[in-house]
Amino acid sequence: MSTKKWVYLFDELDQAMQYVNDEWDGLRGLFGGKGANLADMQRIGVPVPPGFTVTTEACNGYLAGGGVFPDGMWDQELQALMAIEKKTGKTFGDADHPLLVSCRSGAKFSMPGMMDTVLNIGLNDETAKGMIRHTKDPRFVYDAYRRLIQMFGSVVMNIPDEAFESAIEQMKREVGAASDADLTGAQWQYLTARFKTIFRSHTQVDFPQDPVEQLKMATEAVFKSWNGKRAVDYRNAAGIAHDLGTAVNIVTMVFGNMGDDCATGVAMTRNGATGAPKLEGDYLINAQGEDVVAGIRMTKDIDQLADDMPEAYAELQQIAKVLEKHYRDMQDIEFTIEKGKLWMLQTRDGKRTAQAAVRIAVDMAEEGLITHEEAVTRVSPSQIDFFLHPQFDTQAIAEARSQGMVLARGLNVSPGAAVGKVVFDADLAESWAKEQGRKVLMVRPETKPDDVHGMLAAKGILTSRGGRTSHAALVARQFGKPAIVGVSALQIDLNKRRMSVGDRVIQEGDWLSLDGNTGEIFIGQLTTMVPDIKDPWLIKLLAWADEIRTLGVWANVDYPVDAQRAREYGAEGIGLCRSEHMFFESERLPYIQKMIMAQLPFDRREALNTLLPFQREDFAGLFRVMDGLPVIIRLIDPPLHEFLPDLVQLINELADLKMRVKHAPTLAEIDSLLQQIQRKETIRKQAEHLHEQNPMLGLRGVRLGIQIPELTTMQVRAVFEAACEVTREGVKVLPKVMIPLTSHANELKVQREVLENEARKVMAEQGIEIEYKFGTMIELPRAALTADRIAEHAQFFSFGTNDLTQTTYGISRDDAEAGFLIGYLNRGILPENPFATLDRDGVGELMRIAIKKGRTTRKDMECGICGEHGGDPDSIAICHELGLTYVSCSPFRVPIARLAAAHAALKSKKAK
Ligand code: PEP
Ligand code: MG
Repeated sequence: MSTKKWVYLFDELDQAMQYVNDEWDGLRGLFGGKGANLADMQRIGVPVPPGFTVTTEACNGYLAGGGVFPDGMWDQELQALMAIEKKTGKTFGDADHPLLVSCRSGAKFSMPGMMDTVLNIGLNDETAKGMIRHTKDPRFVYDAYRRLIQMFGSVVMNIPDEAFESAIEQMKREVGAASDADLTGAQWQYLTARFKTIFRSHTQVDFPQDPVEQLKMATEAVFKSWNGKRAVDYRNAAGIAHDLGTAVNIVTMVFGNMGDDCATGVAMTRNGATGAPKLEGDYLINAQGEDVVAGIRMTKDIDQLADDMPEAYAELQQIAKVLEKHYRDMQDIEFTIEKGKLWMLQTRDGKRTAQAAVRIAVDMAEEGLITHEEAVTRVSPSQIDFFLHPQFDTQAIAEARSQGMVLARGLNVSPGAAVGKVVFDADLAESWAKEQGRKVLMVRPETKPDDVHGMLAAKGILTSRGGRTSHAALVARQFGKPAIVGVSALQIDLNKRRMSVGDRVIQEGDWLSLDGNTGEIFIGQLTTMVPDIKDPWLIKLLAWADEIRTLGVWANVDYPVDAQRAREYGAEGIGLCRSEHMFFESERLPYIQKMIMAQLPFDRREALNTLLPFQREDFAGLFRVMDGLPVIIRLIDPPLHEFLPDLVQLINELADLKMRVKHAPTLAEIDSLLQQIQRKETIRKQAEHLHEQNPMLGLRGVRLGIQIPELTTMQVRAVFEAACEVTREGVKVLPKVMIPLTSHANELKVQREVLENEARKVMAEQGIEIEYKFGTMIELPRAALTADRIAEHAQFFSFGTNDLTQTTYGISRDDAEAGFLIGYLNRGILPENPFATLDRDGVGELMRIAIKKGRTTRKDMECGICGEHGGDPDSIAICHELGLTYVSCSPFRVPIARLAAAHAALKSKKAK
């Protein structure tokens, strides 16, 4: 029986593809993203140094076996090494012409900076001498050797990196060197020896001289790093499965630090912050890759490479195009130029901001690289959400600038506005944010993987060092945190816990505002505002989404200004106007209270007549804005006591008044107080009379309309008078009157009569015929189960899933998030909050029954949803499957719903 293949040379891609049934995703699972792409790049003719991949299956085997390489793996690794020796003409451990390799982790999903890398494996005292003979460059060789000891020490042996770094710092101080580049060969040689001592003092063993031993230990360390704390934390935050394992990539070393004809850099084939179609990145002449990513040396902008090394730059641009065409996505690449020769060390789909994601998807579709459908799928609903996130108010920015409140400027690597208190370390950031609910900004000279928990807890991120591809920038972008990096004017003193720009000093805990769009740092708290989504690429992408989706997207809106926004955001109708919201306004409240207090029908009618013009104007305003689109007006829903003052408050006020009577100095004053007491007593009695133990299940919705038919009549009159008024103005009005909380068909029957009588009356008075519809909400289980009967009296249904969830689960919607439900979610008793995401099996099933039954009675029954779920992407997918006509959500969620509806349509198309 042949042993399993654990190791694949980059040349053996075809064999691996066979093993994974030609599935690219399967290959990424086996090789990790980095390994798969290296092998693939080699196949399409991009220059990649020879190498091989030890599979994720080997890692999982190693971890499952308690730290033992799976059978045959190590032999295969050694054989692969021999194959590389043959290719490069160099031998591992050879004193004359040594082969050096890197050992890097690479999981299926990119986890930037989370896993470990060891470079220059193969160097030891002997091979170092050989390399010096060969390169005549002791400085380069000892720099490489000390890096091996340092990386091996920290990655494989867990020696704190500071131990090595402080030795370098000390050396620089002693010899007066400004940067690492100023240290000589002899000084690096001294440091190499010093590093070996540090290694020994921390581990009690010597740094291994045997290259094979080095490779073996490095491979193991990468396997183990899969379960390291920072990798686990990252996977938890990014929602990556823990059982995937990491592959190990062993690649021939190429050097960007062998002189001034060498360089190393990282680039994005497009701008990761804005999406602009232009190579963006940083590089360093005569340096190794880690120098660029660590952000310790100030990098050069990739544009300058065109002057420094024109040929390599041209080739890099060409390769960027080839890679984008091949992978059909923006790529994040690492490259090294060794003695003028360009090598690609990595390519992967680049991380990007929401803005960039949208622009790149649209641009690529227009460049013919992807289809419109793919462009739409590439943007997630949550990325659209980002466009609706706060930005700084432009006036606030202008004022802050003119008042000299700009502390400094840096690179605007992740957009959005962040306001918070400055915090200098990750643990404190997390505790201030999580335990004390404070808004914080994470400020560091540079960030490391260990800082991620603090970055996640922070509102924004600020670093004094680093470039567009620094760790801080990548993580911020991925998690949608506004970030500014590379603020060179910023001096951070971590010990004194303060920072300064010139003579301006900011202490830990002080407020700052970061503008991730411009890279400006403001002192103090700037006001934020929600932007209008005018981004031209977003508008295009959403238009494509509209062509794909079959679900309509409507909005829940009560006022004309919200209707305006909803329309701008693409709403195709109003799915819910909660007409009672208009009653709550202070100038109207006394009249509705008077109506509730009325003892005689005449008094009640009079109060209602006062409310009529208000309602008429509200509705007319909505109709005008929604010209040509349907507007569903729901008749009053909440129980009447909600319009009365709180009982306890009333009782207190009464007690106070009675007290004042006792001490009133004049008869006139006593008289006035007694009148007030009498009025309040009436209100109190009525409030007590209306009080219900379970108002949510009490006199509300249709029940209220049946109890007080004049209320329905007034509202219907207002709707139709408004409709006639705007029709006369030339507005096309499509009113729909909706009855809430129906449970029995008879309720509708009764209300419909009242409503239609009044509608006919108004239309006759006005001499205008309005085309309208009469429908109901389905928000009680009984209504859903008897929807065929209900449909006899309703021309449309709208699912009120807030109430339907409440009554299906028997969980009070008002108390849900404050009560045991959270415990249920934490313990996994419920997989999701049913008030946020539609409960497919329960509430969804009731909806399915209602739609089916409703459409049996009325074939084309329009069925929508107006509960909060209408704006939730997962719920929207269920609504699509159920065959709803539209979803209705808050105006701000309309763009998200448009995209989510398109995703749902594409998903079901694919499934078919
Ligand atoms: C619902 O119950 O889902 C609904 C939209 O109505 P309200 O939230 O006003 O009760
Ligand atoms: Mg409801």
